[in-house]
Amino acid sequence: MSSVLDSDPAAVAASTVQKRTLRREIRELNAYVVPDSSGMLKLDAMENPYSWPESMREQWRRVLADVAVNRYPDAAAVRFKEQLRRTMAVPDGIEILLGNGSDEIIQIIQLASAVRQRPVLAPDPSFVMYRTIARWLGRPFVAVALDAQFSLDIWAMLEAIGRTEPNCVFIASPNNPTGNLFATQHIEQIIEATDGLVVIDEAYQAFAGMSLMPLMAKYDNVVILRTLSKLGLAGLRLGYLLGSADWLREFDKVRMPYNINSFSQAGAEFALQHYDVFELQVQTLCAERQRLITALRQRDALEVYPSDTNFIMFRVPSDRSGSVHGGLVDRGILIKKLRGPRLDGCFRVTVGAPEQNDMFLASLGTVLER
Ligand SMILES: *Cc1c(COP(=O)(O)O)cnc(C)c1O
Repeated sequence: MSSVLDSDPAAVAASTVQKRTLRREIRELNAYVVPDSSGMLKLDAMENPYSWPESMREQWRRVLADVAVNRYPDAAAVRFKEQLRRTMAVPDGIEILLGNGSDEIIQIIQLASAVRQRPVLAPDPSFVMYRTIARWLGRPFVAVALDAQFSLDIWAMLEAIGRTEPNCVFIASPNNPTGNLFATQHIEQIIEATDGLVVIDEAYQAFAGMSLMPLMAKYDNVVILRTLSKLGLAGLRLGYLLGSADWLREFDKVRMPYNINSFSQAGAEFALQHYDVFELQVQTLCAERQRLITALRQRDALEVYPSDTNFIMFRVPSDRSGSVHGGLVDRGILIKKLRGPRLDGCFRVTVGAPEQNDMFLASLGTVLER
């Protein structure tokens, strides 16, 4: 007996039409899965665990209530951009392009530069959207393995750049999911070796205490990508690209005209006027990061990697990774089980508030001792 699906003439017809209509690389993709997390302690998505002081929430409600939703948003987001420029000390001569999350900006850059034969190149493991978006666009993607310490394998990078001639190189600084910064000298060697654009993705800049923004003054093939998500505004979906007018003018042509909605513009402008609140939260999270690393390193079963982000990568013996993940889920704790080269047994846990981290440490201890 054939199944209902493949005996249903409509379904067969649809799948034939789909085969004719949809690109194979799209049909072969899996959709981005976000696990159901209701009732769970969510330490898998690098979110900021803190809410805002009540007085700030009260003002925020008034700001949002005044948004004119019958009007289109300001397509140039002038007021928000001015606030962003002040808060982030963006140098004169550097322009800002906004995206609906920095994910959208990765898409904009790859779309605008889709000269089909020229690949996108990135280290591996790194942020998955670089590869996913290349697939959407049918672009070749070159993944260059990091070395055993998850540093850039600079000779492999230079060799791959010379051989495959990418016109877009993505480097996450610090890197996700490994959590480390790469040597600035290596990044400069890459910038000098390629005749394409180098996108330095500083999604975790607030937790790294350093920025590669100065490289934009030194090289004309560098742009810097940032996001407000990891800082504490993930729900607003705001990413931004910093670069020269020459680059950003071109990318702006493939940006959806009203990609940043009015609530996000007004809400983020307000939030950045209270940036000191976020700075304090970041300080607390960095102190908690150190406390978590120290506590995890006391367990012989774990290998714990250094972090310049708001998450920590650690490794359990690979035959135990399934039971560790399952054991934590049973205790209501969600962390990310990593997949990919050199990531056997590796997990990524987001740094939470102190009591959340205590819960995680206690549960992990129980699970490891079983
Ligand atoms: C989280 C993340 C992003 C995407 O952030 P948005 O929420 O889309 O702004 C981009 N790059 C890296 C390296 C990330 O970890």
